[in-house]
Amino acid sequence: MHTGIRLKANVTDHQRLVLSQWMGCARFIWNSKCDEYRYHSVYARKYCPVGTYAPVDQQYSQFKNDELSPWLSDCPSQILRNSASNWFDTFQDFKHGRCGKPRRKKKTGNGSIHLTRELFRFDICADGVRRLFIGTKRNNIGYLSLKLHKSFEEKASLYIKKRHDEFWVSFCYDDGLDDGELLSQADHLKYLRGQTEAFLQKHIIGMDRGVKRPIQAGEQCFDFSPEQKRNMERSRRNLLRYQKKMSRQVKGSNRRQKIKVRLSNIHNDIANIRKDFCHKVSRVLVDQKDSRVFILEDLKTRQMTKRSKAKKDDSGRWLKNGGKAKSGLNKAILNVGWHLFEEFLKYKAHRAGKAWFKVPAHHTSQECAVCAHTHPGNRKSQEIFLCESCGHTDNADHNAAEVIKKRAISLVSNSGSELSKRGVLSLSDTGRGATDKSRRAKSPRAPCEEASKKKRKRAKDLPLDFSLEASPL
Ligand SMILES: [Zn+2]
Repeated sequence: MHTGIRLKANVTDHQRLVLSQWMGCARFIWNSKCDEYRYHSVYARKYCPVGTYAPVDQQYSQFKNDELSPWLSDCPSQILRNSASNWFDTFQDFKHGRCGKPRRKKKTGNGSIHLTRELFRFDICADGVRRLFIGTKRNNIGYLSLKLHKSFEEKASLYIKKRHDEFWVSFCYDDGLDDGELLSQADHLKYLRGQTEAFLQKHIIGMDRGVKRPIQAGEQCFDFSPEQKRNMERSRRNLLRYQKKMSRQVKGSNRRQKIKVRLSNIHNDIANIRKDFCHKVSRVLVDQKDSRVFILEDLKTRQMTKRSKAKKDDSGRWLKNGGKAKSGLNKAILNVGWHLFEEFLKYKAHRAGKAWFKVPAHHTSQECAVCAHTHPGNRKSQEIFLCESCGHTDNADHNAAEVIKKRAISLVSNSGSELSKRGVLSLSDTGRGATDKSRRAKSPRAPCEEASKKKRKRAKDLPLDFSLEASPL
């Protein structure tokens, strides 16, 4: 199976300078191709007969000029060619509706170059260490300091990227795993349908993602370590300090630019902590012997973290819309990295030959795991869940994880459920699935019906998009 890998390169000052220059040249070619296409298409539209289109090719030699762009001759021509051919490939993708039109790239601190085989090689040096050589025979930057912790076979191409003043080498390699042998999700579902209830109970693990408890997987609760929390808190304090400082500085000044770089580094630090957490938790979960099927809620994080809409009364005066509280909640949601965790878990589970599914997320925080009674009143507080019908009490996140597991078991054993492309299990007739209606009807809902209606009405009036679902997070 092909796996992507990204390795950090420790570059010398000279390498940093040259790589940045090469990235600039690659960007110049890309932007010139964009400009050229725009010029030609405008010309064709204005002065040529209908049906004439601008030519699209991967030529770049017209941009090389000893007077206008002498610096291009310092860069290996293969890099320029790769940039032009990447632009051409992107344009073909755009033509077939697979992506947007290639756009000009801005001059920032970031950049990337695409190196094909003639521009790099893995050498075994005299001391027996494998090193990565970058450049051509005449024009090179020598060996790049990398930690090659595995032996990778010869690659066709690789990318060098610059982000936050750090250099990264990324490429694909064959990890020796046969993708044909790994089961697909449909195969897993087929296998699970033939299993007993006890088997499903043992091996299915329901996962609830929250804000207070980032990940509740069955009986286990995962949270950031005290050290991670401390570091995050410190970074956040620094963020506020520097943002305040930057707001007072003159736009375009060097000092402001310095603070800007520092801010982006702090953001990067926080993101790294989040990524580290998600990697570690997903690894622990996938490595557990008994957990073979991972069930997640089908959360729409992007919709859940939208801004609250502005509110106006009849006279056109602005009203309070709870924007500050909502943005705080959004920040807390995004800070946990729900989607990141999901992505990591998915690929790790697939590689380990384990299954993952998603179930509809509606009312998981309000449903009782014992009697399936669903009511907002069940959730007494952030932490406490107390069923109004049967009196079952539990930690709210643990209860939600149980509900998710129960839903998954009922959907897996129900032969009428369907698996969508995104891996969501649902009942085919209603499209929402998961709710066992016969059991719901038996539960004493009548006394709560009115209160429930009222609550629902109130929730509708609220500007929050997910008020019903996420208010008790
Ligand atoms: Zn109950």
